[in-house]
Amino acid sequence: MGKIIDGKQISNDVKAKIAEETAQLKEQGVEVGLAVVIVGEDPASKVYVRNKRLACEKVGFNSYEYALGEDTTEEQLLELVDKLNNDPKVNGILVQLPLPEHLNDKTIINNIRADKDVDAFHPINVGKIMIGEYSFLPCTPAGVMELIHSTGIEVSGKECVVVGRSNIVGKPMSMLLLHESGTVTMCHSKTKDLKAVCRRADILVSAVGRAKMITSEYVKDGAVIIDVGMNRDENGKLCGDVDFDDCKDKASYITPVPGGVGPMTIAMLMRNTLTAAKQQNGIL
Ligand code: NDP
Repeated sequence: MGKIIDGKQISNDVKAKIAEETAQLKEQGVEVGLAVVIVGEDPASKVYVRNKRLACEKVGFNSYEYALGEDTTEEQLLELVDKLNNDPKVNGILVQLPLPEHLNDKTIINNIRADKDVDAFHPINVGKIMIGEYSFLPCTPAGVMELIHSTGIEVSGKECVVVGRSNIVGKPMSMLLLHESGTVTMCHSKTKDLKAVCRRADILVSAVGRAKMITSEYVKDGAVIIDVGMNRDENGKLCGDVDFDDCKDKASYITPVPGGVGPMTIAMLMRNTLTAAKQQNGIL
């Protein structure tokens, strides 16, 4: 059986280092603050926001939570974003997506100050990721890179296949692998013979959102499998895109769901917030 990459443990190690640095900054009079804005009642979003608050507490950040009603107007939300942009106690701003339908994600994100955009979704930060000169790494892909690094396997020269091409996961994921000199193939719903393409992969990253779609038929012997997917199986249990039981014997390393990529995403958000605080205080 392939080795399981323990995202929970690795994320705890990352958070412990962040906590240490945060405590040192506090001694220099610098406190770190993250504002999280949630609009509406989406249950999954509420869980994510809660987890982010708990992570802030764990690393010693001040967290500011704004829970707005479903009927919040664009004007009201932009007013809050503007207030947070100008609040020196707030180093990072995160607006939890998806927003209710009447609000435009892009308009809101484009109005977050780029140096406080710790999700790295603002076009300025997206552009920086493209050219490899980033202040903030996009949280989920950055977490995946940490997990790959933990295996000791070099990305350089490897066949890397990313399934999914969303702006928040698939595209930046491909870019980070490319920056480390992987030979990257991006797949999506129109890809022909996905199985054959995936079977080429030394490193296979799945970010699709379809429960257990990736079976052992998609996997080359000895591949590293990273499962970004967060889905519910037929019994309502949390599962990934990868059929873990079917694939684990073929993989050299494999991430579980839960306990793989998910905890890393939050750890990377904490790291971005710390970076933002340092930059805004002239420490970086
Ligand atoms: P999107 O729905 O935005 O993108 C899904 C991608 O998968 C699209 O590019 C789509 O292709 C592709 N796709 C869909 N069906 C197929 C198929 N049958 N074969 C090949 N490709 C397919 O999702 P996200 O990127 O936002 O999220 C992906 C998954 O990752 C979800 O399960 C989400 O919950 C999870 N996630 C987990 C995070 C974590 O922290 N662990 C963070 C963020 C997301 P096309 O573009 O052609 O439509």
